[in-house]
Amino acid sequence: KEELNIIQGALELRTKTVEDVLTPLNDCFMLASDAVLDFNTMSEVMQSGYTRIPVYEDERSNIVDILFVKDLAFVDPDDCTPLKTITHFYNHPLHCVFNDTKLDAMLEEFKKGKSHLAIVQRVNNEGEGDPFYEVMGIVTLEDIIEEIIKSE
Ligand code: ATP
Ligand code: ATP
Repeated sequence: KEELNIIQGALELRTKTVEDVLTPLNDCFMLASDAVLDFNTMSEVMQSGYTRIPVYEDERSNIVDILFVKDLAFVDPDDCTPLKTITHFYNHPLHCVFNDTKLDAMLEEFKKGKSHLAIVQRVNNEGEGDPFYEVMGIVTLEDIIEEIIKSE
């Protein structure tokens, strides 16, 4: 039964998209780019339990950086280091994909690439104004693996 589920899940990678498995922006644990790495902020990061933390500027839909928890290894909370100092130092690349990216293609990208997190965006052409890119959420390798091994 379990084997069948896994085969089923693997076959569905060709039809399902990142939009089907993403973590919505509202549920993402993120930091504001002007945050200060004091004791409180660092505790929140540790308590979130996440390894990769998107960093936004002004509004949550505007993700500009990504912080890895391991970047905090040499940060002393007593120094109240600005988050920007750290993100500028490591300067991890941001990886963006469109909402209609199929899971098999996404899996390939994760296998090739260095990071296992991508920001999912779509073209919003509802409404009167010009179309614009809209961030929907994040997808990680884990979300795809979950899709493969999930049992219904
Ligand atoms: P790792 O397992 O590599 O340490 P992690 O536990 O931080 O990383 P993943 O295992 O990649 O995260 O993902 C687990 C789930 O959490 C996925 O559904 C993913 O979309 C979600 N996720 C990852 N990072 C965040 C975040 N910063 N905020 C909210 N959800 C996240
Ligand atoms: P991230 O995805 O956050 O960049 P990472 O690169 O530290 O995390 P993983 O993505 O979990 O680590 O693993 C990447 C590869 O590196 C895997 O093949 C894993 O087996 C290997 N790896 C991870 N940690 C070690 C380690 N301490 N020593 C040797 N190989 C490791």
